[in-house]
Amino acid sequence: MIDKKLQNFDIYKFQDNLIDWYQANKRDLPWRKDQDPYKVWVSEIMLQQTKVDTVIPYFQRFITKYPTLQDLADADQQDVLKTWEGLGYYSRARNLQNAVREVVSEYESTVPANPKELGALKGIGPYTKGAILSIAFNQPEPAVDGNVMRVLSRVLKVEDDIAQPKVKKGFENLTRELISNEDPSSFNQGIMELGALVCTPKSPMCMLCPVQDQCRAFDEGIEQDLPIKSKAKKQKTIPYVALLIRNEKNQYLIEKRSETGLLANMWQFPMAPIEEIGMDHIESWIDMEYGVQVTLGTKKGKLRHVFSHLIWQLDVYEATTDSVQVTDSRIKLVDSDELNDYPFPVSHQKMMKYMREE
Ligand code: SF4
Repeated sequence: MIDKKLQNFDIYKFQDNLIDWYQANKRDLPWRKDQDPYKVWVSEIMLQQTKVDTVIPYFQRFITKYPTLQDLADADQQDVLKTWEGLGYYSRARNLQNAVREVVSEYESTVPANPKELGALKGIGPYTKGAILSIAFNQPEPAVDGNVMRVLSRVLKVEDDIAQPKVKKGFENLTRELISNEDPSSFNQGIMELGALVCTPKSPMCMLCPVQDQCRAFDEGIEQDLPIKSKAKKQKTIPYVALLIRNEKNQYLIEKRSETGLLANMWQFPMAPIEEIGMDHIESWIDMEYGVQVTLGTKKGKLRHVFSHLIWQLDVYEATTDSVQVTDSRIKLVDSDELNDYPFPVSHQKMMKYMREE
């Protein structure tokens, strides 16, 4: 059982070796320059599901544009989405801004250091809460993500399925026992850094590892077999015809997605769910949905966008229309050079490349 894993384990030795290694080897990352809770918060939200190298320029741009909680609270949501454009998982940006607005109005612009208050803010789950409390406020709170579960599964030879929520909870309890009370910030960041740089998913570099002599998986030569993780369900693929509809003034038809759900409030080119509509009925479907008569042109290319739970398969077509105005406020005809003013998901930014080739 996971809770018995710390028997005969020298916790203090583990903490010391991990923290010393972290102090000597930590990467120079922009969010590590100070312990400002707002910056730690932004960085932790950006780092969810996203690699460090990808996050760095986004973080720098974001903090330059919104240096304080107040600046982000006052910003227009469309501007925030535009700044986040390309980073994906856009609900993170919307939730962050909503939570920051709550901090400004309810907590006098001070990020709460209380686990209950912090954890009640939108978009702050147990991991992010633990990361902010430990890194910014030096509180011994666990921050358990996939990296941490991988390292601890190996060090302590945990053979439970880390995809199960109750196992994650078990790791949180375990980390509460393991964490350094003197330096919880370096402890948590140390495990994360070890998982990112040394105890990697494939081919961990055990020869460079500061906790190798306490690692049970290494001792038994089974480090490549851990952690145990059951496969997520396969994503469903949905085919769409995505349309670059242009009028004679060289304007393109774009629409704003709904206020809730996937990619809420982002902009996109029209997408026809082709299995439901059928290729022969695309023009009439566009007329019904957008009030615009179009003539379908040639196919320009194919794109795929993989979300965590589904895949869009986009066949990109060009189309022309005589319309110069639209009536629905969520639909716009915009000049091609104005498209950059709107936040688009990555797959639709890629569609713009087909336009520029014309
Ligand atoms: Fe990971 Fe190897 Fe270190 Fe064990 S010894 S924690 S498997 S890198």
